[in-house]
Amino acid sequence: MTMRFVALPGGERIPALGLGTWMMGERASRGQEIEDALRLGLDLGMTLIDTAEMYADGGAEELVGRAISGRRDRVFLVSKVSPSNASRKGTRAACERSLKRLGTDRLDLYLLHWRGGVPLAETVDAFEELRGAGKIRHWGVSNFDVGDMEELWALPQGPGCAANQVIYNLGRRGIEFDLLPALAKRHVPIMAYSPLEQGRLLGQIGLRELARRHNATPAQIALAWVLHREGVVAIPKAADPRHVEENRGALELKLSAADLAELDRVFPPPRRRSALEML
Ligand code: NAP
Repeated sequence: MTMRFVALPGGERIPALGLGTWMMGERASRGQEIEDALRLGLDLGMTLIDTAEMYADGGAEELVGRAISGRRDRVFLVSKVSPSNASRKGTRAACERSLKRLGTDRLDLYLLHWRGGVPLAETVDAFEELRGAGKIRHWGVSNFDVGDMEELWALPQGPGCAANQVIYNLGRRGIEFDLLPALAKRHVPIMAYSPLEQGRLLGQIGLRELARRHNATPAQIALAWVLHREGVVAIPKAADPRHVEENRGALELKLSAADLAELDRVFPPPRRRSALEML
């Protein structure tokens, strides 16, 4: 199975299908099982891992650190600074803590988890400083709507933003109206979080019916749909190894124009602007 890739604004290619880690690392008793699931995902070529200092209060980063041990160079590692830490000094300190928990000397992509009270320029300065020091290779944002992106791009260093991580799945298509085109114009990819709507999408009858005809599962159709767009990375979270394998299989699915039209009828695209949703 070949992996698909998405280009960052500078041209570097990153895997289109990665591994999420929210709700991982909360219970030590499941640590080994989850670590194995992440390793399985890496073995299957899903070599982008998304984590955050916030997840399990650093526990998810520690788990990821163990999962990537011995194979760090083959992983595109993404983590996030919480808004409450996103001052100039706070961002640098938070990054050091994340690096320590992850057992590495650099992040491939460091995101501002969502917009908080710290002026954007301050966080961006800290990101650029970390980049200059080789602690992070790229920086970006998360949960930024069009207005936030415009403010960011207006900053002297703002155009250096490499990605925006936002919620995107069949049931939440609002970004197609304005955010997705605005990012595409600048060749900034989106990382689609909760691509399965945390599993809530999967019982939908229209989705199940299309999956049946493709001899696939609803999760595979939902992921194939997110992945059919240019410039979109999907980061489903799966602690169950069967889910990991299934999700990898979504890359083999080709949705036809008729399939896409059918999905549009069940999950209509947006007709007007709506504020960016967030989980
Ligand atoms: P998600 O990936 O849409 O769904 C995860 C849930 O779906 C889990 O319960 C998982 O179960 C289940 N699942 C996974 N694959 C499945 C399959 N093939 N069949 C049936 N069920 C399946 O939700 P998410 O965790 O919210 O989003 C993904 C990642 O995005 C997060 O882990 C996190 O890294 C990131 N995220 C970022 C933000 C942000 O603000 N930037 C917000 C939310 C999420 P098992 O675990 O039991 O396999």
